[in-house]
Amino acid sequence: MSERTLCMIKPDGVERNLIGNVLTRIETAGLRIVALRKLRLTTAQAEGFYTVHKERPFFQSLVSYMTSGPIVAAVLEGDNAIARWRELMGATNPANAAEGTIRRDLALDVERNTVHGSDAPETAGQEIPYFFNTMEQQG
Ligand code: UDP
Ligand code: MG
Repeated sequence: MSERTLCMIKPDGVERNLIGNVLTRIETAGLRIVALRKLRLTTAQAEGFYTVHKERPFFQSLVSYMTSGPIVAAVLEGDNAIARWRELMGATNPANAAEGTIRRDLALDVERNTVHGSDAPETAGQEIPYFFNTMEQQG
């Protein structure tokens, strides 16, 4: 079943000129980029996006990192897109990420792990409209 997921290229990826590298992996895997945008999150926007983690010890550091520079947000579409994008990304901690995944190949550490992906249909349904309005999702 075709579905959509939210992708972010995080500040460490944008800073190291890895936008093209990540987007090429997405397209090579057969996922379609339906919306794409570069922006810098405010503190309030980063806190809102990661509100599910607000009680976690890494929250403040994560928000500080996510606002440290621009990010790229994208909506990806395809059969089973949520799981396929998570598979391309690899495990949260690059030390545990499988060979050939983005995080294994490109990430710096568990925080600066280069990419984000929605983890379920419900979260994708919240995260996509956080960045893209209806008209921007028509691609
Ligand atoms: N994170 C961190 N330390 C941790 C766990 C997570 O800094 O111990 C950061 C990391 O950038 C991660 C984000 O918080 O991508 C969100 O964590 P989550 O568990 O949702 O991982 P993800 O879904 O991104 O794999
Ligand atoms: Mg997550």
